Parts: sequence; C-alpha cells; structure tokens
Amino acid sequence: MVKKRITVAKGDGIGPEIMDATLEILKAAGADIEIDEIEVGEKVYLSGNSSGISSEAWDTIRENKVLLKAPITTPQGGGYKSLNVSMRKSLGLYANVRPCISLHPYVKTKHPEMDIVIIRENEEDLYAGIEHQQTDEVIQCLKLISRPGSEKIIRYAFEYAKVYGRKKVTCFSKDNIMKQTDGLFHEVFNEIAAEYPEIENEHWIVDIGAAKVADTPEYFDVIVMPNLYGDVISDIAAQITGSVGMGGSSNIGQVCSMFEAIHGSAPMIAGQGIANPSGLIQGAVMMLTHIGESDCAEKIQNAWLATIEDGIHTGDIYKEGTSKQLVNTKEFTKAVIERLGKQPKLLKGVEYRKDAVLNLPEYVKKPQKKKELRGVDIFVHWNGTDANELAAMLSPLDTDHVSLSMITNRGLKVWPNGFPETFCTDHWRCRYKPKEGYSMRKSDIIALLVKAEEHHIDSIKTENLYSFDGVEAYSLGQGQ
Ligand code: NAD
Repeated sequence: MVKKRITVAKGDGIGPEIMDATLEILKAAGADIEIDEIEVGEKVYLSGNSSGISSEAWDTIRENKVLLKAPITTPQGGGYKSLNVSMRKSLGLYANVRPCISLHPYVKTKHPEMDIVIIRENEEDLYAGIEHQQTDEVIQCLKLISRPGSEKIIRYAFEYAKVYGRKKVTCFSKDNIMKQTDGLFHEVFNEIAAEYPEIENEHWIVDIGAAKVADTPEYFDVIVMPNLYGDVISDIAAQITGSVGMGGSSNIGQVCSMFEAIHGSAPMIAGQGIANPSGLIQGAVMMLTHIGESDCAEKIQNAWLATIEDGIHTGDIYKEGTSKQLVNTKEFTKAVIERLGKQPKLLKGVEYRKDAVLNLPEYVKKPQKKKELRGVDIFVHWNGTDANELAAMLSPLDTDHVSLSMITNRGLKVWPNGFPETFCTDHWRCRYKPKEGYSMRKSDIIALLVKAEEHHIDSIKTENLYSFDGVEAYSLGQGQ
C-alpha cells in the first residue's frame, strides 16, 4: 500500500520539541505515513514575508492535503497576518473540532465526568472580518451566516456523532435576538437533525448553554455552533477539563485538513526540553483517524492514557499526591512509546471504528427563490439627537410611491413615537417602504439617494429589504 504523505510544520517556541516527540511516537506506533517538512511562522515572518508562509510551503500543503502543525509565534507589532486564520480560510477548513475530555483523577478538574466535542464553524460569522467605520461614533462589523456554511458544519457534526458513536448533538445559537442570521443556523440544524433520527438533538440559546457547559458539562455530548460562540466556548470547555495544554484540535475542509495542539508556542519554556507534548499528540491522533489509520490512532491514544494514568507527568500537570514521576519531554515520549499496545486501567480506553472516515456530500445549491424588493434602509450620519427633527429633514425625499416608514437608532425604533429618554448616537437607519400596491424598483433607491444628496443628508450606506418566496427577510425595528 502507498504510504500517505503528510506535511509537517515544526513551528516556533516549544513547537520543534513537541513535534519531534510526536513524530517519534507516530513512528514507534507504525503510522503508515511519509513526511514533507515545511517552514512556517516566526522566521518566515521576520524574513520579510508578512504572511508567515512561502508559496512553496502552500504548494506542499495543497499537494499532500493533510498538515500536522506545531504552534507558531506571531511577532509583536502590526503588519503580520495571522497564519492560522489565513490557513483556515485559504484551504476552506470549515470545521474546527475540539474534544474536551476530563482525565480525572490524574488531571485535577471540577468536572470529572466531562467528555464533550465542540464543533465550531470556522470561516464565517463575525470572523469574515468585514468592518467599516461609518460615522464619528459608530463602527460596524458584518455578521455573515450562509446556508452552505451552516449546512456543511451541522452535517459534519451529525456525521462525526455517527462515526464516533456519540448519542446527542446540541446546537447553540442566539436566534431569539438574531432571528435572521442565527435563525438560519437553527433552521438548518432542524432540517439536518431530521435526517439522523438515531441521534438525539436539541437547541440551547448560547448564553444559558455556555453557563450550562461551565457548570454541568457532562450533560452535553457533541455541540455545534457558529464561529464566535465556538471560539469562546471551546476555550472554556478545554480549560475546565483541567488543562488547556492537553487538548488537540482539527480543522477540516472538503479537500485539506490541519491538525494541531490548542495551546501556543510557550516561548518562556522553549528550548528547555520540559514542554508537554500531549496537545500535539492529541492533534496527531485526530489526524490518524481522519486519514483512516484508526488502529494506529487507537494504539497511541491508549498508550498516552496509560502514561497519564501511571502518574508520569510533565511539569505543567505534575501535582504532589496524584502524580508519581516528574518527567521532561523526552522522558514522557519514551513512557508513551513503552506503553504502545497497552490499555489504560481506570481511564476509559478508546476504540475507534476501523472505517472512522467521515463521508460528507458536496453542498448542493438549492433552487433560487422568488426575490422581491420590499423597501430600503438608508443609513444616515447625523449629529442631532431628536428623531422628529431628522424625520422633518427627510420629508422632501418622499415620493408618490415610496415614503419614510421608520427611523431606528442602534436598532431601536425612535420614530414615529419614540421616547425622549432614549440615548441616540449619530448613526440612523431610515426605512423607506413602497406605498400600497406599488412594486418597488432599484431606481426608486437611486432616486432617494440623489434627493438625499440634494438636501445635504449624509447617507452612508443602504441595505435593500427583500422577501424570498413571499417571506420578508429582514429585521423589524426593536419596539416596532
Ligand atoms: P501559550 O499557550 O503559548 O502559553 C500559555 C501558558 O501555558 C504559558 O505559561 C506556557 O508556558 C504554558 N504552556 C503552553 N503550552 C504548554 C505545553 N505544551 N507544555 C507546558 N506548558 C505549556 O499562550 P501565549 O503565551 O498566549 O502565546 C504564546 C505565542 O503562541 C504567541 O505568539 C501566540 O500568538 C502563539 N499562539 C499560537 C497558536 C497556534 O499556532 N495555534 C495558538 C495560540 C497562541
């Protein structure tokens, strides 16, 4: 059989030490892989390449499709782009997977029963990075949630649950407030959940869901969520297992994938040979199951669990009483290798399915819906505070067909019938709707903007209001 070629990046700080340890274990366990090494990170940044990666390194990653990456250091100061974000987006790594499992009583935690997997959407949401300052007082960041993005990540979560024998998938969203964006995520969750009747499903509002994760994590199994919530909650979940330094994570795309430790390059302890390689070992185990080497993954994971259980601990997790032997990186590695083929006695050993490879269908575009223009929101920069005054200034813009129907400030309706107590900034949303029986056109919007210009109204952007198949697809004003 042809060996699988993978790309390896040793990274910065403790990166090379923990990568050498991990590769030694992979080799000893008989992983059927060949390795191409690339240089990414600090040296590349400081050589004048602001992306931290050369075009040759990109070629190798794309050729081999699987990357095992140690942490890298992003140099201080502006101008250096985050390599992690570039990799996720450029390679379409839409799913971030983080198992968070307690190793009680060997790693101290308040949650001994915890065994959850956080599956985070990795490419969109507020992380699309589309931000604009529009007035002196207001800056916006666009939150983009797409149907393909939501379908892919939610299907991934259910397929993951199926292949890894998980019983339940929970969705976190905030669709009681963000009815359109998070509403779509929740809607897609319900659609896809119906295709997996054998797996339990449920939805939690993210705030109380996060509180429940922090308090009673054993209640959950697999949790899927949009990017920002996933970023925050996956760190909390990793931390409450007892150590963020012990976890691995995978970033999965349709074609490529990247596996790593959760922690950073720990420059303070770099070069001392004392770093804990466990996080990267966990990343490597996820990589092996992903490429179909589940036997080898199982062997390493059980040997690693047996090592932890035997109290052989690096300094970061060493505790008098529970730990038996304080070891450095090399000694820990040797201990794991010695236990290859052994099972843990008290901790639960793992058993991965031999065909633990997720088969995910390509996204199929849905038929286009009938889209109708139902109005426009014109955003205005104005320094006044009384919305009645602004409405009067806007009155010359009304036509026989289109008229001002509402003004909001930071989403709250302030005209008509606002309260004088409401605090207003200089950023006003002025909603224009067609009169009864009139079908609005784009030319009506252009005419409104031309008139606004003539009357010295500072319009800063517009958002068209649409219905899709007759359903209005935009938010109302709060209080409307
Ligand atoms: P860090 O995770 O590197 O370190 C936090 C603390 O945990 C430190 O006290 C460190 O010594 C300790 N620690 C981390 N990993 C350890 C290990 N394996 N064994 C023993 N102790 C360990 O976080 P930081 O200090 O905020 O970041 C340092 C650098 O890492 C920064 O340049 C940051 O940008 C980078 N970083 C990279 C990644 C990545 O490449 N995926 C992720 C996070 C941070």
